[in-house]
Amino acid sequence: MNEQLEALLETIQKTADQMGTAASGVLEGAGRRANALLSVGKLNVRLADLSAEANVLLREVGELVYATHTGDPTDSDVLLAKLKEIDDVRAQIREINAEILRLKGAEGVCPHCGAAVKAEDRFCKECGGRL
Ligand SMILES: [Zn+2]
Repeated sequence: MNEQLEALLETIQKTADQMGTAASGVLEGAGRRANALLSVGKLNVRLADLSAEANVLLREVGELVYATHTGDPTDSDVLLAKLKEIDDVRAQIREINAEILRLKGAEGVCPHCGAAVKAEDRFCKECGGRL
């Protein structure tokens, strides 16, 4: 492994612990945002967006690491910021997945639009469909 790349990866390794601490705050924020969204359908759309975003970020990280390998060293702060973005996106994905499970499990889901419904509801409050 070349020295620049080795130094870069070493920096990333060192900051992994700090980022773990920061990520817990992000989880709470993502949870609140996820709770504001009502339907499973909407959550699934958001999941697809976040997944695409994560893929773009991962590709960008790959480009930065490869540039370092080919002799155009990436500033480690730039790379770490990018990695932190991926942490954030993945934390949101986990929260939304948990929210979808909660909506599907605890309350029931409208067969027409995917909104959470209560067992005693006759009609969906979101779309008006008969349950
Ligand atoms: Zn509905």
